[in-house]
Amino acid sequence: MYADDIVILADEIDVMQRMIQKLEEYCKIWNMEVNMEKSKIMVFRKGGKLSSKEKWLYNGTEISITSEYSYLGLTFTPKLSLRKQIQERNQLAKNSINTTWNCFLSKPNVSIKTKWKLFLAISRSIQSYGSQIWGFSHFDEVDQLTLYFLKKVLKMPSFTPTYIMMLETGVENGHIYTLNNHLNYITRILYDYKDDRLPKILAKKVMRHEIFWKTHINSLTLQNSTEAFTPNLSKQCWLQNIQNLLQNIRATKTNDALSNANNTHRFYSKLQPTFGGLYFVEPLMQDELMWILKARSGMFSLNSNRFQTNSNPICSMCNTVEIENIQHFLGRCPALKEFRLMFFQMPIINESDLINILNGNVIHWKSLASYLKTCMLYRNQLLSEFNI
Ligand SMILES: [Zn+2]
Repeated sequence: MYADDIVILADEIDVMQRMIQKLEEYCKIWNMEVNMEKSKIMVFRKGGKLSSKEKWLYNGTEISITSEYSYLGLTFTPKLSLRKQIQERNQLAKNSINTTWNCFLSKPNVSIKTKWKLFLAISRSIQSYGSQIWGFSHFDEVDQLTLYFLKKVLKMPSFTPTYIMMLETGVENGHIYTLNNHLNYITRILYDYKDDRLPKILAKKVMRHEIFWKTHINSLTLQNSTEAFTPNLSKQCWLQNIQNLLQNIRATKTNDALSNANNTHRFYSKLQPTFGGLYFVEPLMQDELMWILKARSGMFSLNSNRFQTNSNPICSMCNTVEIENIQHFLGRCPALKEFRLMFFQMPIINESDLINILNGNVIHWKSLASYLKTCMLYRNQLLSEFNI
């Protein structure tokens, strides 16, 4: 017969031994056996060695003490450090992206929306497992997975800044999702659970002593100027607080991304931010999205782009001796004059017209993508012919 797992919690050495004794008696009465191979003790503490008194016996056999235990898929450590488990889950989630890559994610004719749905259903579910417990804490890994997926699918270089990916795709920071999971779980415990349930007793203690997740939530409310989560709030006010907090975090993240663009990326900051709402909602092929995204963000593979410059940044296609950046490539390079005439009836495009074009205001997004693709293919063909 197989009985379910049990956990015994105590905050004193002898209380724990007495509880183990009770378990021993219970098992004797019901003729049950405890699997000592799988039974472990974990002493939760801030650090330091265990004292010689910290020993516990079951049926005269010493129970081994462990520093890592996996329970219901969550890895516990004496310091209750959650980082290791976030890293493990993140790796599993990343693997899920890589295993679905060949059969699905790499397919150019599957829309980015469908791929995003798959990412949420599989990779984010794997990553956010247990976020009801750990979601209060902000782990960089949580956001990195979303970026890893987007950059891979959109064929963007790994060094593409986060503000570009965020502002262009409009995809929300993964941390907001896990924080929401955590806050909803705490709400359920505090407002829906009966008073004698252990999670509620513990949650109330955490609230009263302002420890563990409560200290993180306190600093989030302070940073984002929202009302504190106090013990006597009505459920309605508590839920409203959650909405306000998440909304303010979203606004802060967006403002940070915009000011990052303004401070560091002159050309990009002149473009209209899309928040995923301009060309990402158009029925475009994935490659078309990629061309537009690369051109807008200055990530085109030219001799000089916003984030990487070749040893020779001068345009290899013409003799103007100008640096080959997006403004030169699309606006001025004489070698591409025929494409500008073909698409825009203009031999040269000045910066303000170029900005209008990249904002989708002059030609349709689909035509813009085909203009970008044509110019880039022509460039690469020309360079390979001349072996540059
Ligand atoms: Zn040129």
